[in-house]
Amino acid sequence: MTTRNFRPVCGRGGTSAAEAVIENRPLIVALKRCATQNPTFPTQAFLLLTLFLFCLLIVVARGQTPAAAPHPIVLHAARLLDVKNGHMIKPGEMLVQGERIVEVRSSVSRPPGAEVIDLGDRTLLPGLIDAHIHLFLHPGAEDLQTVEESVPQRTILATLAARNDLMAGFTAERDMGTEGAGSADTAVRNAINEGLIPGPRLRISGNAVNILGGHEDAIGYNPEQHVLPNATYANNADELVAVLRQQFKEGADFTKIYETGPDRIREGKFTTVYQYTEAQLEAAVKEAARVGKRIAVHATGEPGTLFAAQAGVASIDHANQLADETMRLMKEKQIFAVPTFTIFEYFSEHAPTAAQAAREREMLEVKIQDFKKQVAAGVPMAVGSDVGPFPHGTQAREFVLMVKYGMSPLAVLQADLLNGAKLLGWDGQIGALEPGYLADAVAVPGDPLEDIGVLENVSFVMKGGVIYKK
Ligand SMILES: [Zn+2]
Repeated sequence: MTTRNFRPVCGRGGTSAAEAVIENRPLIVALKRCATQNPTFPTQAFLLLTLFLFCLLIVVARGQTPAAAPHPIVLHAARLLDVKNGHMIKPGEMLVQGERIVEVRSSVSRPPGAEVIDLGDRTLLPGLIDAHIHLFLHPGAEDLQTVEESVPQRTILATLAARNDLMAGFTAERDMGTEGAGSADTAVRNAINEGLIPGPRLRISGNAVNILGGHEDAIGYNPEQHVLPNATYANNADELVAVLRQQFKEGADFTKIYETGPDRIREGKFTTVYQYTEAQLEAAVKEAARVGKRIAVHATGEPGTLFAAQAGVASIDHANQLADETMRLMKEKQIFAVPTFTIFEYFSEHAPTAAQAAREREMLEVKIQDFKKQVAAGVPMAVGSDVGPFPHGTQAREFVLMVKYGMSPLAVLQADLLNGAKLLGWDGQIGALEPGYLADAVAVPGDPLEDIGVLENVSFVMKGGVIYKK
């Protein structure tokens, strides 16, 4: 997003596999003692080493995220959301075997050995999706954390952020840029996929892409210090293609491009600068498509958002001040707008000066009016919070704001789950509780179709058949 100054908040620690491995120190001591006291050391050493490695495997396995239960699980709740048809199944049950959903109805079959979990007066719904996050950002001055904190330090915090998001019910997320931590998100995504640490399913973009002197460049510092930008430079179509190839090589699932910014309101009029032409964006979209990947843009205003829509990006994030033609193209091509209200609200409530708070509130006010126009024009929406500058795990606020500013709770849930699954490239796999889908589910007290705010109080989380919170 943009540069602001905020109060720093520290992440919370957890137990690691590495800590557990230290418990095997007696074996190492025994191994050394053998070497000094025993003439038959080589044979015994081999046995001890084998034993040590075996123990290590067990401990590492214990430190891992638990695998899906070997037995079937039946989840029972007072309500279960059929998000596609927009109605509640009362009561609702789903049968889970391994990582997949097998059956969903009011009363599912109970195979031998099935574990029945009664979630009581709660609503079961698909695991939540956040289509715009930053695992590598935490509250505090964004530019300073990218300058002051090492990539290993930021990566450790990113793993804690991933855990916090999962525990808040977000079982799938799209990370929109490490902001100066290169492709470190590849390691986080892979560690989650391998079950080494808890976290959502991730689509990652590595470092975002930006022009020299553009929105995300390190402007305002002593030039002689050569402060690095929070994005990777690409100044023309050829450079865009080269950067994309490098990022895909390093593990990115898609590419995030800064297309506009900074945004300003002068005498009531919104202005922003575009960075890439339509032809340049089209070159990036084509290169990504060549390897089955997509482009997402940070974009507001004109002509930047029109260039992005014409080029055929997958989503336009923030999406303030869209012209009629841009909205028409987005509807026609099913390009998702991701409003990110929560970050705008956060900035307006946490600005360092009263004057800046007033500017942020004005920007939010403009955004609310834009959003109403976009909803009326039928622009397809996805739900993304831009969490990172505000604390991870609190981003269900986005649902509340999208309802507050004009969408129905069901429309917001459909935007989050059905459109989110499409945007993340997991259509037909996540985003609905249906047989054959991955068993990603959360439970909340109350009925989210009546009070969307209950999503801020997720009390049960399952991802891929594994229960993380109960
Ligand atoms: Zn962002």
